[in-house]
Amino acid sequence: MTDCQFCDIANRRTKAQIIYESDLALAFLDHRPVSKGHSLVISKAHFDNLYDIEFKPLLEVFRVAKIVSVALNKVFNPYGINLMQNNGMHAGQTVFHFHVHIIPRYDSEYVKVLEEAAMKRFVTNDSFLEADARKIRSAMKG
Ligand code: AMP
Ligand code: ZN
Repeated sequence: MTDCQFCDIANRRTKAQIIYESDLALAFLDHRPVSKGHSLVISKAHFDNLYDIEFKPLLEVFRVAKIVSVALNKVFNPYGINLMQNNGMHAGQTVFHFHVHIIPRYDSEYVKVLEEAAMKRFVTNDSFLEADARKIRSAMKG
């Protein structure tokens, strides 16, 4: 055993319901699903999160996420599918090995959650957005 649950799945030390595998990525069913078909795609190599994952495994994880999403859509015929990817404890990350959630949605309950979230959005203005955009653009130049 390592101290990383998803490295243990990638190395077959822990059993998981694996649904797709490539050289750099692995997809399996979440063991405590939010909905039927809830799947996870991980990089086989260990990266803590989106900040440190290299581009090649990152792109491969998203390629596999598309393949799995198309299959879930075909098999379970959900109303829609969300991809979710958490970075950091305060964003809900509990396993610190890069992963993407694929969550099929089957009922209108989730629409209510989205509507409630929409009501909590900030009202802002162009000058605040402009100041933030300037900071972000300059952070990406270096
Ligand atoms: P996150 O909160 O984004 O870090 O998500 C971690 C997810 O991993 C949760 O949805 C867990 O249910 C799932 N999970 C943790 N351990 C396992 C495991 N051994 N097999 C399958 N899913 C797991
Ligand atoms: Zn790991």
